Amino acid sequence: MSKPIPHDTTGESECEHALVHLYEFLDSEMTPDDEQRMRDHLAHCSPCLAELSAEEIVKKLVRRSCAERAPEALRVRIHAQLTVMTTG
Ligand SMILES: [Zn+2]
Repeated sequence: MSKPIPHDTTGESECEHALVHLYEFLDSEMTPDDEQRMRDHLAHCSPCLAELSAEEIVKKLVRRSCAERAPEALRVRIHAQLTVMTTG
């Protein structure tokens, strides 16, 4: 008899998992298991990869400008641009 898997992926899509843990991934705060799962998913899911790239770029810009947060307008613009680049 197989043991039930405590954290079944049923009900939580891999995309949801990736998006929910996006910031943990960016900050390297994930468990090795979750990080591996994230990498596996990003390797074949371009929408999530685009999402990650957008956040990563925003983070870098924010860090460079020493601001607490990227202005909302900037965030939106970068995000829209990347989405067009990767899906269009
Ligand atoms: Zn995905």
